[in-house]
Amino acid sequence: MGAFSEIDPIQLAVTASRQTLRAWASDVDARNRFPHESIEALRQLGLLTYFIPRASGGPTDFVTYCSIAAVLAEECLSTALIWAMHCQQVAILVDHGGPEHKHVLDEVERTGALVASVTTEAGKGGDLLTARAPLLPEDDRVRVRRVAPIVSYAEHAAFFLLTMRSAEDQHEHDVRLVLVAREDAGMTVTGDWNAMGARGTQSVPVTFDLVVDNNRVFKKPFRQIAVQTLIPAAHLGWSAVWYGAARGAFRRFVRQLRQPENKSRAQLQSDLFLSRLADLRVSLDLMDSMITQAAARIDSLRHSNADVASYENITLNISLNNVKIAVSRLAFEVVDRLVELCGLAQGYMKNTALDVERVFRDLRSATLMYHNDRLLGVNGKLILVENSGAEAIWRRPDGL
Ligand SMILES: Cc1cc2nc3c(=O)[nH]c(=O)nc-3n(C[C@H](O)[C@H](O)[C@H](O)COP(=O)(O)OP(=O)(O)OC[C@H]3O[C@@H](n4cnc5c(N)ncnc54)[C@H](O)[C@@H]3O)c2cc1C
Repeated sequence: MGAFSEIDPIQLAVTASRQTLRAWASDVDARNRFPHESIEALRQLGLLTYFIPRASGGPTDFVTYCSIAAVLAEECLSTALIWAMHCQQVAILVDHGGPEHKHVLDEVERTGALVASVTTEAGKGGDLLTARAPLLPEDDRVRVRRVAPIVSYAEHAAFFLLTMRSAEDQHEHDVRLVLVAREDAGMTVTGDWNAMGARGTQSVPVTFDLVVDNNRVFKKPFRQIAVQTLIPAAHLGWSAVWYGAARGAFRRFVRQLRQPENKSRAQLQSDLFLSRLADLRVSLDLMDSMITQAAARIDSLRHSNADVASYENITLNISLNNVKIAVSRLAFEVVDRLVELCGLAQGYMKNTALDVERVFRDLRSATLMYHNDRLLGVNGKLILVENSGAEAIWRRPDGL
């Protein structure tokens, strides 16, 4: 596999995006299938190892991570989402895994194995910091029995990181993360993914029922893992993907307008058209600046080995949530307005060169993917205690 330490990984992503993701995105959507060719291209370029530090150097920072996600999403939102979600799980393993988790990173480096995320649960929905299904001791091992309503690329991942309640008699806020491997068996896909958009993510329902060694359970409480790594990586990675998808559609439209045969289009003489076009660019620049600023802030915490309390800072968490809320709305809005500007033939029809219709459907999932209502509810509470000296809301209700 390629080693991106010698080549700028953003440049590698540009190559993959333009050469492979662009070629397969429509087919992946139309046939409602996993983007094999595009993920294989990322695997070959070594991009699936992003976040794993390497002796020869190469970036592992959040700003570059977001740039890569956006570049990939310009051509295929599903592939970019899979890449970003996989990288989030890799980052967790790098930041919080013990020696017993190291073989997973070796497999990612050696074979480009994918790692998937299992946090959503029947009954509690997307609430990240709680889990209902308990870990059940069985002899000197532990049983993982859990229903997962939606697991992206479940049928193509070699490893899964699941949130579980620590024990039957423990509070649902006492969450632990557990590593499960496909080869443990006991994993059943129980349905399909016939969604409006993001079809390539193949986010299917799965039930897990298997027994693993105790050392598969991460020693750190999940709340710490989430606050330090998962929440920043998820909110910023997803946002970068949504922004990139909107930017891609916008760029394709602008490129088309610049073509010589379009120079005489009446639209280009219209002040209303031009100001609407410029308005979309305002939204794109807003998203870019929100993502980059937040990513740089996380990078500076990571570079200074900041403690957990720094990541629990209320203002930081409000702003991370706000990036996700704002970008999930704005990216969809940009493409919605692009449909108007492109018109019926180029904006509303399927399989045009601009692919606006597909991106519109893909981006409709953004507000639902960790529901904005949930984040707004959390932010409402955080705003009331911000700068008041109160403890971070991430703490358990019982104070532990
Ligand atoms: C493309 C895609 C891929 C995904 N991949 C994965 C994956 O790999 N692994 C995984 O675990 N999950 C995954 N998810 C699930 C995702 O992360 C969310 O957990 C899920 O979308 C939330 O589902 P929900 O609608 O039950 O949301 P919930 O957040 O449970 O919301 C359900 C309803 O309750 C309302 N609601 C929730 N909270 C509040 C509140 N505080 N105030 C008012 N109303 C509220 C919402 O408006 C909504 O109508 C994916 C989702 C998508 C769209």
